[in-house]
Amino acid sequence: MNLVLPWHHLLWQQMRYCWQQNRLSHALLLAGPPGMGKTLFAQRLANLLLCEQPVEVENQAHPVNWQPCEQCQACHLVTVGNHPDLFSVHPSAADKPISVEQIRELIQFCSLTTYYGRYRIVLINPAETMNHHAANSLLKLLEEPPPQTLFILVSHQPQQLIITLRSRCQLLNFSRPNRQLTQAWLQNRLAISPPTLNNKADIALLLNLSAQAPLLAFALVETGAMTQRQALFDSLIRLATEKMDPIKVVAQWTQGETVPILPWLLSWTGDIIRGALTGQTRYLLNQDYQTHLLLFSQQVDLKNLFSLLDQQIEVYQLIRANTPVKVTGLLESIAIAWVKLTHSPRRSSL
Ligand SMILES: [Zn+2]
Repeated sequence: MNLVLPWHHLLWQQMRYCWQQNRLSHALLLAGPPGMGKTLFAQRLANLLLCEQPVEVENQAHPVNWQPCEQCQACHLVTVGNHPDLFSVHPSAADKPISVEQIRELIQFCSLTTYYGRYRIVLINPAETMNHHAANSLLKLLEEPPPQTLFILVSHQPQQLIITLRSRCQLLNFSRPNRQLTQAWLQNRLAISPPTLNNKADIALLLNLSAQAPLLAFALVETGAMTQRQALFDSLIRLATEKMDPIKVVAQWTQGETVPILPWLLSWTGDIIRGALTGQTRYLLNQDYQTHLLLFSQQVDLKNLFSLLDQQIEVYQLIRANTPVKVTGLLESIAIAWVKLTHSPRRSSL
């Protein structure tokens, strides 16, 4: 049974209490960074409210809790994504907004009688991708909500939602999970899975690299991203110490699957700046590379480092915005800048 994630328990209990007291708000805003499990929470809450016979679960790891039975017809229909009283709204493609036409379809759905006579659930995810017209149409719907309907808005960037829409929703904040709970969960998941990264330092590192988002931290290991990160860092060291050809290095970077090169480069640049400003390793996110990063920070010119930071941010934004640019050429200019940055008489000690 897919139980509630440990750092969700308080919010889950809060929802359960409101539901049992018949005081559930008509609109919820699940807000917090990616990787906190907001979508899982939203789906499970929708499932609970649609389930024909929710069950009470109690065990050591999970206090008394209501869960969907996962046996009834409603649970089955939710699982296969075909429950007639559940309506999901999401962008049709990664770079597309949620359109006003999609909200019109939602309004039509809300005008119908519920099929099973229980809750009608609307999931909007991620809510911040609604365009202006879509958000205003949804606002009108929320101002006169249909009966027995729960709107669940999931948002990684709730500040991008119009204020009037936010004020119509009860906020569920996922941004500060209990660190002890997330560390224990991650350790448990990594010990169960084949990866062997499960000592305390590794767990803290993975969470630091993921802005404390447990699901992202787990994905770093599960998807092989940590191995790719190591290869990328090794190539940077070779650029600095072995005078490797930056063009050849970038050819390696762009082989096969797209590696999230720029987020890692930005993370390391940030750490080198922190090292240069403080002279200490304890403020670095990439604790496993602290020796190299601190050496970099002692050897590079801070002004050039900030220029490189700006250059990388600009390229990252261009790529994220799907601007038609030659990515390889931009990465080559960044690799050349790294070589120039580390071109000092003491670089050989790296
Ligand atoms: Zn059920």
